[in-house]
Amino acid sequence: MNYEAVIGLEVHAQLLTKSKIFCGCSAHFGQQPNSATCPVCLGLPGALPVLNKRAVDFALKMILAVGGRVGKQSVFARKNYFYPDLPKGYQISQYDKPIGVGGAISFIDGGIAKSINLTRIHLEEDAGKSLHPENASQGYTRVDVNRCGTPLIEIVSEPDIRTPHEAFLYLHALKQIVEYLGICDGNMEEGSLRCDANVSIRPIGETTLGTKTEVKNLNSIRGVERAITYEIGRQIAVVSSGGKVVQQTLLYNDADGKCYPMRSKEESHDYRYFPDPDLVTLCIDDFWIAEVAASQPELPIARRERFVSNYGIPAYDAEVLTTTLQLADYFEAVVEHCGDAKLASNWIMTEVLARLKDQQIDISEFAITPTRLGELIGKIKAKAITGKIAKDLFELMLSDSRDLDVIISEKGLAPVTDSGDLKKLIDKIIADHPDEVARYREGKTKLFAFFVGQLMKATQGKADPETAGALLKARLDE
Ligand code: ADP
Ligand code: MG
Ligand code: ZN
Repeated sequence: MNYEAVIGLEVHAQLLTKSKIFCGCSAHFGQQPNSATCPVCLGLPGALPVLNKRAVDFALKMILAVGGRVGKQSVFARKNYFYPDLPKGYQISQYDKPIGVGGAISFIDGGIAKSINLTRIHLEEDAGKSLHPENASQGYTRVDVNRCGTPLIEIVSEPDIRTPHEAFLYLHALKQIVEYLGICDGNMEEGSLRCDANVSIRPIGETTLGTKTEVKNLNSIRGVERAITYEIGRQIAVVSSGGKVVQQTLLYNDADGKCYPMRSKEESHDYRYFPDPDLVTLCIDDFWIAEVAASQPELPIARRERFVSNYGIPAYDAEVLTTTLQLADYFEAVVEHCGDAKLASNWIMTEVLARLKDQQIDISEFAITPTRLGELIGKIKAKAITGKIAKDLFELMLSDSRDLDVIISEKGLAPVTDSGDLKKLIDKIIADHPDEVARYREGKTKLFAFFVGQLMKATQGKADPETAGALLKARLDE
C-alpha cells in the first residue's frame, strides 16, 4: 500500500516589541533571570493586563503580508493549564475569535509555485522557561519567568503540506516574511521562532484525515524536515505491521534524529478556554488596517520579482540575493555604487557568498562594505584593474580597508596598458614559441588563447586584455 503524508505546522513567532504584551516589563532577551517581571506578568491577584498596541500592529503586518482577513473584533481567552513556568495558571491567548483568519504562504518547490493555506493567526503571551539541570541527580530545575508575557503570534497552517521538503520551504518562506517585516528576528536556534509539526499518513487516494501526532522541540528548519521524515517513516511502519497510530505529542531529539513520546495529546476542552474578563474585545477599524498597510515594506516575493525585472538578473540569482533582507540591501547598495547589476550579482553570488560560508558569518559582519565592493567593480569597468587582478584585490580588501587606489599602487596591481612594454613581451613570446606561431599561421587560430595565456603569465595577469589582445593579433597576423 502506498501512503501519503499530511502535515500541518503551528509556528510561534516572538514579536520584537520593546515591552511585553500586557505589561510594561522589558521583553528583551538575555536579562538577569526573573528581573523583568511585575505583578501583571507574575499573575499576582488583582493585577490587570493592558494590551500593547505595537504587538497588535505587528500581528496585523503579518496578517496583511499573507493575505489573511483581519478579525475586526477579536477576543482574548484564558487557556488554563498548570505548569511551573506559568505562574498565573493560565496563558492569555485567542480562541474562537482570533485576530487573523486565512491567508497563505507561497514558495517555489523545484520550479513549481506552491501555496499553503493558513487557518489562522492569533496573538498570545509566552510562558516562562524551566532550566533543567544537565544531570537529574545534580540540583534542581530552576524557573526563569522573564519570558512570561512576551508577545507571540501563532501562525497555524491548514493540513496542506505533503512532504518534509515542503515543510522546509514553507518555514523558510515564513521566516523570510517575518524578517522582512521586522516583527521577529526569525532565530529558531534561540527560540524566537518555534515550530510544532502535526503529522499523519493516509493511503493515497483517501480523502479523510488520519490520526495525527504532534512533534515538538524542533529548533532548526532542517530539524523540522528531519523530524517529519522520521515520523512519517515510523507511522508507515506502525500501520504496515497492522498497528494503529496513537494520537500523542512527541519530542524530537536532533542528536539521533528520532521522535520520543512526551504525553498523550490534550484536547482543547482540557484547557477550559473562556474569554478573559480582564480584557475588552479588541476592535480593529479600517483606519487602523490602512495605517498598517501603508507602512508595509516590500516583501520577499515582490523584491525577487523586481530584481529580475529591474536588473535583468536570472530568477535563481534573484532568489539567492533576496534570501535575507540584509543580503538584498547589500546587493542594491553595490549596484548603486557601481551601476552594474550583473557584475554586482556575479561578485556577490560567487566571491562574497563563498567568503561568508568559509567564515560562517552573516553579510552584516562581512569586512567589505557594499560601497567598497561597488568601487572595486567600478575599477574593473573603468579598466583600472583587470578581472584577474580584481580577485587578488578583493582578497586584500578582506583585511585592508585603505583606499583602493593606495592598495593598487602599493601592490603594483595597475594593468599594463603601455603598448611599448607589451610589444616587447609579445616579441619575446613569439621568439620563444616558433612551433606554435607556425601552427597558428597555418590556421590553428585556437592557439590564440595560448598566446594570451603566455602574455598574462609574463605580466602576472596585469595585461589589459583589450590592448593585449589587439597587439597580439596584429603581431601574429603580420
Ligand atoms: P489541535 O487542536 O490538536 O491543536 P488543530 O485542529 O488545531 O489541532 O490543528 C493543529 C494543526 O494540526 C494545524 O496546523 C492543522 O493543519 C494540523 N492538523 C490537523 N489535523 C491533522 C491531521 N490529521 N494530520 C496532519 N495535520 C493535521
Ligand atoms: Mg496544537
Ligand atoms: Zn510585567
